[in-house]
Amino acid sequence: MKPPPFAYHAPRTLDEALRFLAEHENAKVLAGGQSLIPLLNMRLAAPAHLVDINRVAGLDEVEVTSRGVRVGALARHTRVERDQDVAAAQPLLRRALRHVAHPVIRNRGTVVGSLAHADPAAELPAVLALLGGTVEAASARGTRTIRAADFFAGPLESALREDELAVGAFFPAAAPRTGTAFAETARRHGDYALAGVAVEVAADDDLFVRSARAAFLSVGATPVVLDLTGPARDGQSGRPPGSCDWTDAAAHVRERLDPEPDIHASAAYRRHLAGVLTLRALDEATAEALA
Ligand code: FAD
Repeated sequence: MKPPPFAYHAPRTLDEALRFLAEHENAKVLAGGQSLIPLLNMRLAAPAHLVDINRVAGLDEVEVTSRGVRVGALARHTRVERDQDVAAAQPLLRRALRHVAHPVIRNRGTVVGSLAHADPAAELPAVLALLGGTVEAASARGTRTIRAADFFAGPLESALREDELAVGAFFPAAAPRTGTAFAETARRHGDYALAGVAVEVAADDDLFVRSARAAFLSVGATPVVLDLTGPARDGQSGRPPGSCDWTDAAAHVRERLDPEPDIHASAAYRRHLAGVLTLRALDEATAEALA
């Protein structure tokens, strides 16, 4: 099918892009196009205007500091996935990006576009939610920083306003004695996951778990973040340092999640899967935190 008609704008500067968004109702930003173009072709979206930001200079930067990783709106998945400094500062990004679609899609698709698209089955929203990252929104009225906890409003719905462009996203760096892991199950590698989890475990100097958190994808309308510190600590009590039993944490996850069934998986199967993936991810993340 062909997309419905729209007016196409290709601004060269950020100011121009923001002016277009301020002056035109029912406008959509076009970044990598890997989600928007299929939606248009299937006629699931019919914006009157497309604002193609691909020619806007300065939006493709990736900055790594001791605080974390700032990803510009035009940084492609592949660019972020392959960056060694990014992997050193926050290894969870690369771990999650390897599950995002296929290499050709990652060559075009953008990290920030994935956040703005707010698909609850996508990997990066869960990563941003777990790490407590932020999205930087700009409009002709000014800029604001939106916390991950406030950003994802529902399936394909973010806190971005109609005239706002997400100019970047910030992923905090991994703290010392912290381990992360990402696990998901999809019918085929590269498909959206039936369920998935990103996990962060922090240990103290005595090799005991200080905190454990998980963010799930494909089990709710937005990424679902759970604090697993209590059950994780219970799984350590009476055991030697560095040794953990995650059974309680997995049971806690199964109790707390309330996924919807669809044609791919029942709710019960998704819940079961989330528990199994949590066990695996906690094992990996703890090994890294204690290494
Ligand atoms: P676009 O398609 O250009 O835009 C998507 C939406 O976000 C649009 O509404 C657009 O207006 C908005 N938007 C984009 N950038 C901005 C911005 N800077 N400011 C404001 N709004 C913006 N993704 C996954 O996470 N996991 C998968 O497993 C996965 N599998 C895929 C499989 C296939 C076959 C395909 C085609 C895509 C898949 N994707 C998957 C989607 C892919 O990751 C996209 O790259 C991503 O979702 C959107 O990024 P984009 O840059 O292509 O955004």
